Amino acid sequence: MGDGVVKGQRPLPLHTKIFLGLVGGAVSGISANVFLGQRPEVEWIVRTVTEPIGQIFLRMLIMVVVPLVFASLALGVAGLGDVRKLGRIGLKTLLYFLLVTTLAVTIGLTLVNAIRPGEGLPEEVKVQLLETYRGQTTQTLEQAGQTRFGIQMLVNIVPRNPIAAAVQGDMLGIIFFALLFGIALTFLPPSRAEPVMAVLSGIGEAMVVLIDLAMRLAPFGVAALIFSVTARFGFDLLIKLGLYVFTVILGLALHQFGVYSILVRVFAGLSPWRFFSAIQTIMITAFSTSSSSATLPTTMRISEENLGIPREITGFVLPLGATMNMNGTALFEGVTVLFLAQVFGIELSLSAQLIVVLMSVLTAIGAAGVPGGSLPLLILVLQTVGVPGEGIAIILGVDRVLDMCRTALNVTGDVTAAAFLARSEGHVLMPLPSIAEPIAEIKRADA
Ligand code: ASP
Repeated sequence: MGDGVVKGQRPLPLHTKIFLGLVGGAVSGISANVFLGQRPEVEWIVRTVTEPIGQIFLRMLIMVVVPLVFASLALGVAGLGDVRKLGRIGLKTLLYFLLVTTLAVTIGLTLVNAIRPGEGLPEEVKVQLLETYRGQTTQTLEQAGQTRFGIQMLVNIVPRNPIAAAVQGDMLGIIFFALLFGIALTFLPPSRAEPVMAVLSGIGEAMVVLIDLAMRLAPFGVAALIFSVTARFGFDLLIKLGLYVFTVILGLALHQFGVYSILVRVFAGLSPWRFFSAIQTIMITAFSTSSSSATLPTTMRISEENLGIPREITGFVLPLGATMNMNGTALFEGVTVLFLAQVFGIELSLSAQLIVVLMSVLTAIGAAGVPGGSLPLLILVLQTVGVPGEGIAIILGVDRVLDMCRTALNVTGDVTAAAFLARSEGHVLMPLPSIAEPIAEIKRADA
């Protein structure tokens, strides 16, 4: 990544360039918002320049997801060569997802019960927000009406047609088919299975090249995405809903830097400092795209290169995690349900709060890894405990910013799971990210 190098100087590493893109996008977007306000020129720049650039970057990432997930998962499973080993890894992965997600919701509920952000919200702000976001709320309510929850959600995991699942970006369907395809390969004689595995491996490697290409655009893509959000954002809302936003972000931060630090230290044997600096690019990509799915290619590449997690683990745990392991989303849902209950003066008993925990964990598993993917499911949780679904209007205006933060947590949680799995399967992780990137770059340059 030696582009833009001044003679005799070391090129800036990619993660530094992406970080600069993040800061540059945020500073210029916030400045445009504050100093130029609602001027039509700002909207014009967003619509014709920054949004298209951001979209191209996003699409470049999303484009890779379906073939990458299919090839790496099928190959990962076939490579394990043994259904029992797959069962063991699968069980550990799911248990890890469930436990850590439950912990996240518990942190959220504890904070929202202690801070009680909903009680101080002035009546006129509540009425104004319900009015302003009525249109958007109706759309989300309709989506919630179409969402199948319960036993149908389980049935839907099995796709009728794997190609249709791929076309619709139905991740759980693709994952299910890829798992079975990989298992099927282990039953074939090697002379039959190996050519297929060689093709899958070639597809996986070609996707890595495409991810590399997309990531070269990342400094600009990230800057453009962040500019588009901040230039249009209603910062006055952040102040009005300050205590609620503070509660969500405090919960996310405690989980991100407290819980994960302990988990990576204890279960993966990694220094938290090294871990977080190794995954900076993953966190920034998740933050700026608000999408676990769009971040998946980056998550896989960086986890392999910077942490040394083997492909057989990343190929299995990370695609599953991108849809099923959403710690940040579950925490956000728990806080939001209780916040809205407080706003509407509904007292939720301990048993109702336990239902909130359970439902938040389940809906976080079912939510799509796209911006706002959890909102229709959040409405289901609200309705289950008797809080009006329309109440979601109150938080819609600040949702994008919270979405960015919770997605960063969701994706970090996936990497901690992969690190834990790798270690528990006896793999040695690479705790030196500071040298990993230059090495990876040298390897790429040599190739
Ligand atoms: N945007 C989140 C993700 O992709 C999902 C959500 O919480 O809405 O992980």
